[in-house]
Amino acid sequence: MTSDIWCLKGELRQEDSAKLETILEQMAEERGVFPPTLSMFEQAPDEPWVIEVFFPEAPESGFVEEVIERMGGSDWVESFEPVEEKDWVAESQKLLQPVEAGRFFVFGSHDADKARPDAINLLIDAGQAFGTGKHETTSACLDVLDELADSLTPKTMLDLGTGSGVLALAAQKVWPSLEIVASDIDPIAIDVTVENVEINKGVARTAGTRGAGIACIVAPGLDDPAFKDEGPFDLICANILAGPLITLAPDITGVLASGGTLVLSGLLVTQEKEVLAPYEAQGLDTQGRVEKGEWLALVLRKP
Ligand code: SAH
Repeated sequence: MTSDIWCLKGELRQEDSAKLETILEQMAEERGVFPPTLSMFEQAPDEPWVIEVFFPEAPESGFVEEVIERMGGSDWVESFEPVEEKDWVAESQKLLQPVEAGRFFVFGSHDADKARPDAINLLIDAGQAFGTGKHETTSACLDVLDELADSLTPKTMLDLGTGSGVLALAAQKVWPSLEIVASDIDPIAIDVTVENVEINKGVARTAGTRGAGIACIVAPGLDDPAFKDEGPFDLICANILAGPLITLAPDITGVLASGGTLVLSGLLVTQEKEVLAPYEAQGLDTQGRVEKGEWLALVLRKP
């Protein structure tokens, strides 16, 4: 059964996704229609994003052709067709559902009235940065933070690959005096994190200053002078993919304090051995693991 919803689907590099967003907004304004809904999903760093543009009904003639023309060609387009109603409903519900992980409750602004008095509530909208709590790698980290909340009192934390800032915010809510660095290779993720800190009434601080709060840094790995005055860190969460986790093992271990805890996520269950090897070589011990579907989060400790 088909519905009146149409979807333009394709793959675009992140900067071109942003360009598409601007074009859609401009064209909707020019034509006096509501802009279609754009969803973007990161697959992996350095890979194009999957983009889906949903039109509530078949768009007026020439609209999609003009979008493609303004984008400079149709190489990125995979399909433009009506959406199966059944799938659409299931998908939209999946996207809209809040996520519960341990003491954390992560929800979008459409569910703002569902905040729970007994939970740590985090309002994170699905947007251009990864990390609404819906992905297994994120909820595995939230489960780990929930467990650590009862046994650890870290003073400093690094959230490497912060995405939407969800883990940095979760940690700040658990340990309000925590001095946090939230870093990401992607400047958009850092803009989103700064916004999410505000939205969730978190505390921000400037990198290089000491004290409670989240300092945001744009950097690949630990490769930025701004890290010079930060760390060593009592707690590090790195939810990036297996590849960068392996490459960054010496750098990450280097800024982990003695007795510090490291949470690695973004790896598949099948990648456990290859990701663990370089960390064991640096002398870290495995403390725990959380499996979520095909994904795995590891908890390590520096002696
Ligand atoms: N921490 C969030 C987001 C995880 S997605 C969560 O748990 O939901 C992974 C993030 O890591 C992305 O935002 C990506 O831009 C970032 N990233 C990938 N490789 C990186 C690297 N080498 N250095 C810093 N950030 C990186």
